[in-house]
Amino acid sequence: MGKIIINRERCKACAFCASVCPKKLIFFSQEVNSQGFYPVELRMEEECTGCALCAETCPDVAIEVWR
Ligand code: SF4
Ligand code: SF4
Repeated sequence: MGKIIINRERCKACAFCASVCPKKLIFFSQEVNSQGFYPVELRMEEECTGCALCAETCPDVAIEVWR
């Protein structure tokens, strides 16, 4: 069981994290951030394993993982 916290303001919506998540839990949100991007968000939170692949892949260090 894991949990991630996404920093909406740092996210540039490259979707690298979404592409590597083995559970496919990361999606674009509907609201734009101050940089003009639609940042990603975690859905179906209970499915997150805390594997940290998303955080390791993020070029903008926008994801924090808790286990
Ligand atoms: S920690 Fe792993 S399972 Fe959880 S959102 Fe990130 S890549 Fe997906
Ligand atoms: S990899 Fe980082 S910057 Fe790219 S969409 Fe995911 S959280 Fe946003």
